[in-house]
Amino acid sequence: MVKIFRYLKWIWPFFLCFLISKADGQRGKYYDGPYISEKEGQYELMWIQKGKVKREKIALDSVYTFFKPNLPQIDLQKLEFKTEEAFHFDNVEKFVSISDIHGQYDVFIKLLQAHHVIDTSFNWIYGEGHLVVLGDVFDRGDKVTETLWFLFNLEKQAERNGGKVHLTLGNHEVMVMHGDIGYIHPKYRYTSGASRTEYPDLFSNETILGKWLRSKPVSISINDFVFVHGGFSKQVLEKEASLKRINSIWKQDILPDEKIEYDTTDLTSLLYFENGPLWYRGYANPSGFDVDQANYILNRLKKDHIVVGHTSMPNVMSLYDNRIVLVDSSIKFGKTGELFIYENDNLYRGQENGDRLILSSDKSGDDNKSVFDFMYEDSDSTIGISIISDIKKLKKEKLNKEYQETEVLLYDDIEEIYSFEGRVKVRGNMRKKLCDNPPLKVDFSKKELRLNGFSNRDKLKLVLQCGHMESQAHSLKKEHLVYELYQIIDTLGLRSKLVKVDLNDIDGGSTVLEGFILEDEENLANRLGGQIVEKGIVTKQALHRESFLKMAFFQFMICNTDWSIRGRHNIETILMDGEKRLRGIAYDFDYSGIVGQKYAVPSELFPIADVKQRYFRVNDLTEEEFIYIKDFYNDKKETLYSKVENADYLPQKEKKKFKKVVEDFYDIINSRRKSKKLWAKN
Ligand code: ZN
Repeated sequence: MVKIFRYLKWIWPFFLCFLISKADGQRGKYYDGPYISEKEGQYELMWIQKGKVKREKIALDSVYTFFKPNLPQIDLQKLEFKTEEAFHFDNVEKFVSISDIHGQYDVFIKLLQAHHVIDTSFNWIYGEGHLVVLGDVFDRGDKVTETLWFLFNLEKQAERNGGKVHLTLGNHEVMVMHGDIGYIHPKYRYTSGASRTEYPDLFSNETILGKWLRSKPVSISINDFVFVHGGFSKQVLEKEASLKRINSIWKQDILPDEKIEYDTTDLTSLLYFENGPLWYRGYANPSGFDVDQANYILNRLKKDHIVVGHTSMPNVMSLYDNRIVLVDSSIKFGKTGELFIYENDNLYRGQENGDRLILSSDKSGDDNKSVFDFMYEDSDSTIGISIISDIKKLKKEKLNKEYQETEVLLYDDIEEIYSFEGRVKVRGNMRKKLCDNPPLKVDFSKKELRLNGFSNRDKLKLVLQCGHMESQAHSLKKEHLVYELYQIIDTLGLRSKLVKVDLNDIDGGSTVLEGFILEDEENLANRLGGQIVEKGIVTKQALHRESFLKMAFFQFMICNTDWSIRGRHNIETILMDGEKRLRGIAYDFDYSGIVGQKYAVPSELFPIADVKQRYFRVNDLTEEEFIYIKDFYNDKKETLYSKVENADYLPQKEKKKFKKVVEDFYDIINSRRKSKKLWAKN
């Protein structure tokens, strides 16, 4: 295919007259440029203004800003650029990635603004974050030049702020540079004809943008992610897996020379043609690709994820437990698109309205269990987990919430089942301050998960007894029981399972604590198939009313006011397939009266002095709604009671206290007089 387009270079001038006449009707409207080249000690500028070719020559040392209506503003003193020598970037806390913009500058800008990468004046506000544009800025759309100048300037602005903009080449960049203009927008045919310059020559090595494009790599990596426009095929990786080497072959042997012979035994040729990194489409083909191949590729690249564009998808998608991320969200149609976002170890789809959805892959093709699923489904209740790390340091520096290295053992009675390398950190907002044993998050090494046949979902949340007193162990178990009850009310609820947690300090010394594992968002998304949505503010009106009321009654039942829809405080929101309204899922129940943590106090916003007192948080409940929910809860009553009665991990006395709280709730909702306060508020 590449070869055919290369011949177009020689054919197209014959069509020129025809094309110019066709574009005649539009010509008066065209704005394009500037195209700037450096020749004989001066800058030569060319641009199209209302369809007319304009030119200007400016001495290299002049103070001059190109400033024309409808065209990018360019400061000629700032045309220098730095060629990035590094291909790998580590310890990057956040990045966004996008691909196949294809001249749809407006959609691109909207997405960057919606996710606070740039502000409304197009300034970088993403701090030390990285933006990765995965190629194919060229062709199809009519705002290619705008996009290129925007990136040219943003790159420097990002750098000044400690961030980075990466543009990796796509096949359409290379097609244009090598003379294939089969996909350019009529506007660019017009620019080319009117200025009597072949379109590829507008990006020759004598032009600023041409030089800049030729300085770009085909692949980079950030943390455990590899980025490349098309993908790395097995054929290429069998011969070469070093990004440094692949980039240098591209830059030195391919970009300047378009006459590469087709030869599948030659690495340069392999890199250039259909199995090369800019053209390969294997990943998005479900019949030709599977999780083993994905693992092979990642092992060769020594990374955990590969991010690619090139094949248009309805949105940002991922395969094989997020091993492969497909970021070409069809921006080329000029309507909408998505960003791929990485932040705090989480992967998201960023939408045009600023919403973020947790990225979760279609389950097909990978039935491997996560460590959470494995532990949750293990019928043997004696399963335990051992964390071997610098526990003293972890506790001492718990407020920093930084990862540190750990070894994790899963064991069954006394037999070790699995051992993993990983990292561990403290999580939780209040408990990290209040508890001697704050909740933990373990991040397993993905490579070890792969070797042991687990899924790529690498996080495990652990909640531990806050302190060493027996009452604190009881509170922990009661919180787990609350999760169990919530599952009866809403099957979307996060799952939990009691485990013994053995904290082993590397200096010796170990403590066995009561704990439970808690399902994380990625696992939840994978289980439910819906979309977990995150954004700043959510209104009560945006929620599925029935599920909201069931949740609010549940909180009332367990004496919990520590949640908020608006701020998504202790509420996860999920959009189920085929539904328009979000469902709110409650979690974190340690401030509820039923759990009885010593530190729990109600917020001053509510007219209660003790968390054991009840306060109903819904102020617009109707009588009809009340009756409906009351009936629902009455139906669940026996199931809830028997769950409590069977909670043999709690002493009889604690079970009784727990059950009493639930009984009081039923007493209220079934009393005409007491329940009236719930729905007759307004
Ligand atoms: Zn492409």
